[in-house]
Amino acid sequence: MVDVIIIGLGCAGYTAAIYCARYKLSTLIIGDKEGGTGMAAAEVGDWPGTQFITGPELMENFKAHALTFESVTHKLARVEEITKTADGFSVALQGGETVAGRTIILTTGTKHRLLGVPGEKEFSGKGVTYCATCDAFFFKGKDVAVIGGGDAAVEGAAIAAQVARTVYLIHRRKEFRAEPYWVDRVRARDNVRSVLERQVVEIIGDKKVTGVRLDKPWDGSDTITLDGVFVEIGADPDSGLAKSVGCALDERGFVKVDAGMSTSVPGIFAAGDLTNASNYFAQFVTAAGEGGVAANSVFHYLHSGH
Ligand SMILES: Cc1cc2nc3c(=O)[nH]c(=O)nc-3n(C[C@H](O)[C@H](O)[C@H](O)COP(=O)(O)OP(=O)(O)OC[C@H]3O[C@@H](n4cnc5c(N)ncnc54)[C@H](O)[C@@H]3O)c2cc1C
Repeated sequence: MVDVIIIGLGCAGYTAAIYCARYKLSTLIIGDKEGGTGMAAAEVGDWPGTQFITGPELMENFKAHALTFESVTHKLARVEEITKTADGFSVALQGGETVAGRTIILTTGTKHRLLGVPGEKEFSGKGVTYCATCDAFFFKGKDVAVIGGGDAAVEGAAIAAQVARTVYLIHRRKEFRAEPYWVDRVRARDNVRSVLERQVVEIIGDKKVTGVRLDKPWDGSDTITLDGVFVEIGADPDSGLAKSVGCALDERGFVKVDAGMSTSVPGIFAAGDLTNASNYFAQFVTAAGEGGVAANSVFHYLHSGH
């Protein structure tokens, strides 16, 4: 039985682990994807104290820092279920192992939103992917589309434009809602073509992607010929585990937390992109901040007799 089980190997989880260790809490951190969403960030220019770092480097630093503490144990595994017990929680892992903790910090982040059009499932992994910054490298000299208008889409287009021949940035609205920094980066590239006020209604192909069909013609045609399609239309909270153990969710499915990152279930705390905190501003700084607060709350919770 450890003092705290942290679920999620991303920014919020590793930060919580660092703080838990400094509070001398025995800590087990478990997750099924090392580094979490941070691995998709090609260029991070807003992590204070570091003008430029890649997401994978930043996440490797977080992990290395957390694992310098003897009280932190790390496990790569998928969590299947959390059950309340007399003295805390039992956590069932894929493969049959069960671990026990007095408290839980949930940092399960988000999962990619699907486009939901014909061809998407069929060509997933055959030209359709969900991380432009991770997969652009495979499309050197090719024509690709990035679908979306937020930070991940516009950053994805800027990064893809460094290797692809042409990047079509397809967005249903008139303007991008990404950080102006990334919008400027895209505008500075002459191989990025903005396809605005258009929606992709079908991903077409044969054995692999050959293009997309739009709801309205653009540049004289309702199809664009492509080698790859990156769907970057946002993410939904990965709150299935939280829900199944009884944590209250908001109307959008984010885990509801108070100022101390406590969920509605005593002994379960949550942090990072999964929660409704920090005004839904899903960033490294907010995920890290919430992770630190959650660890502090676990410390006080356990020292108040729980
Ligand atoms: C392309 C892109 C670029 C970005 N660039 C920036 C940037 O420049 N600056 C910035 O501040 N932010 C950026 N972000 C946002 C930032 O990456 C996230 O806000 C941050 O990584 C969220 O961390 P998290 O710990 O809350 O969640 P995540 O990193 O998503 O971690 C969730 C973890 O939970 C695990 N998990 C989920 N369910 C289970 C389960 N059942 N069992 C076990 N493990 C589970 C996952 O495997 C993962 O390890 C970017 C995001 C993207 C997509």
